[in-house]
Amino acid sequence: MAKIVQLSDALSNMIAAGEVVERPASVVKELVENSIDANSTIIEIEVEEAGLQRITITDNGDGIEAEDIRRAFDRHATSKIKNEQDLFRIHTLGFRGEALPSIASVSRLVIESSTGDGPGTKVELEGGKEIGSASSPARKGTEITVSDLFFNTPARLKYVKTIHTELGNISDVVNRLALAHPQIAFKLSHNGKTLLQTNGNGDVRAVLAAIYGFNLAKKMIPIRAESLDFSIEGYISYPESTRASRNYISLMVNGRYIKNYLLTKAIMDGYHTLLPVGRYPIVLLDIKMDPILVDVNVHPAKLEVRLSKEQELMELITATIIQEFKKKVLIPSNEQEKRVKAPKPEQVSFTLEHRTEPEEESPKESRVPLFNKEATVIMESTAAEDARPWNMPSSIPVQMPVQTDRKPENIDEDKESASVMEEIFIPDEEPADIPVADQMETAEEPERERTEAVSRIPTLYPIGQLHGTYILAQNEKGLYMIDQHAAQERIKYEFFREKVGEVTNDMQDLLVPITLQYSTDECIKIQENLHLLQEVGIYLEDFGHNAFIVRTHPQWFPSGDEQEMIESIIDQLLQMKKVDVKKLREEAAILMSCKASIKANHHLRNDEIFSLLNQLRNSSDPFTCPHGRPIIIHYSTYDIEKMFKRVM
Ligand code: ADP
Ligand code: MG
Repeated sequence: MAKIVQLSDALSNMIAAGEVVERPASVVKELVENSIDANSTIIEIEVEEAGLQRITITDNGDGIEAEDIRRAFDRHATSKIKNEQDLFRIHTLGFRGEALPSIASVSRLVIESSTGDGPGTKVELEGGKEIGSASSPARKGTEITVSDLFFNTPARLKYVKTIHTELGNISDVVNRLALAHPQIAFKLSHNGKTLLQTNGNGDVRAVLAAIYGFNLAKKMIPIRAESLDFSIEGYISYPESTRASRNYISLMVNGRYIKNYLLTKAIMDGYHTLLPVGRYPIVLLDIKMDPILVDVNVHPAKLEVRLSKEQELMELITATIIQEFKKKVLIPSNEQEKRVKAPKPEQVSFTLEHRTEPEEESPKESRVPLFNKEATVIMESTAAEDARPWNMPSSIPVQMPVQTDRKPENIDEDKESASVMEEIFIPDEEPADIPVADQMETAEEPERERTEAVSRIPTLYPIGQLHGTYILAQNEKGLYMIDQHAAQERIKYEFFREKVGEVTNDMQDLLVPITLQYSTDECIKIQENLHLLQEVGIYLEDFGHNAFIVRTHPQWFPSGDEQEMIESIIDQLLQMKKVDVKKLREEAAILMSCKASIKANHHLRNDEIFSLLNQLRNSSDPFTCPHGRPIIIHYSTYDIEKMFKRVM
């Protein structure tokens, strides 16, 4: 007896619903996308009990003609594509003709639609079967109400999470659709309460404000770039405004929001070391390309797409973001948050370790008004008893002996950044353990970049050191605190990043050679990558029996515990599923910079502070350490005066 039967339409729709209608948010997504495809300018989404009880979508779009309305609920019935060619040039969000029949098969659905010429049609369905019809008002547009979702598929209902989670998903869907379509006015309400409302005036920043709040939206940076095949446009948050999940990264391709791991990674690569580990930026990226380059037919909910020339697009995204931050000053300042919350005094309960009378006749006084005579009020002193004496006047910049011939040549004399202050930060004696000075002399970076970097961090006059951990410095804009470890990590990181991958003959032999033992499979991987390891300064010789020996390393290799460093870098290599040259260099530079940097609770001599600040000013990313933590924070003069109630 034959065993294979053709499934009924009703059953195939329910099966399709399993893919297309996973949860209430999928219903919202499909219905709103239909409204968008119908050229609506106003779309209202009303939801009850996170959509499980009721979802109503009302639009003012083209509407459906009476004779079409039932066909819209047939499987694979669509008005959006007609032939094969169309499938490769999709301009609409929908095209599979699956959503309406799928949704209808797992709910009670009422549709009312009119094209505006004459009365519309109303059809009621239950589990996909028509149970009633009537004529409806002539208002142009469509209204669809989906009630009792999954009433006939209890198994699916079980997968639905809490009301809270499902509502979160719905809100996420609507947010992204609103971001992708700023020219449409959206309104989302839950149990009668408005959750989102946009005005449809076409301004993306206004939509960002509606979603993330005015203050954040105001601070987001617009970006725009173009290549032969792509144009991208959007907004990115400053590295200080981060979130704990990738969810705030919204990607649109030709008006369709998508999830794409590689493009998200390209964004993260753009932020690179500017973000703390585990934090993500808020980004909106609208990517436009010829539809022929996108295959949208790879995912039932069309959330994933396949892109041709993905690599080119990734590079464009990363480069655009990097470029943008190269232009920006990224010092977190309480001033930027001022309008959000007034700074509490505890937030700045720092202590100056030693006070010195300000020099009354200081010629620089006008440039550093903060700690002039009237303002020299020092906060409660909790300085550790054993704090090392700090013998630098706190009120004025200290004139250091300057050896003009050692000034970095590429600092433009005419620029403000190359003023007196520049000289002040040149140490009279270069501390031996800060190798970046060499880097400055060899200056391989393009001159333009260096000059740019110089102007990004202001000239700072050191005041002293706090708890042996933070450097305090000032200028006319206020007080700056610099995390000395983070600063040096950044400096060293840039130094090592340049060194790894460079060919050098400048070697230094180890007093005692290091032997390293690995398992067979590890040895194979190491053997395959001996050359790569040399680039990061590790010169392994085969020592037989799964062992290697290291007898020498490049001069620049961080001294101290070489064995631990070498092992950590090899571990990085072994952990990589696919060996990535760039990443290994990167990781090695980070490891080396961390090891080689001064730790907290370490007293710095004057010349060391000068040298550190100078090098920081010359680094290409002076604002965050390689782990993304801030290096420098700023208390504005205004805020300090406000805390002391000198200004109101
Ligand atoms: P698809 O969107 O893939 O075409 P759907 O099942 O979502 O398939 O919708 C079927 C058809 O119903 C659409 O092609 C469209 O013609 C019509 N339709 C659905 N929703 C609307 C709407 N809100 N306004 C106008 N037409 C609609
Ligand atoms: Mg559709």
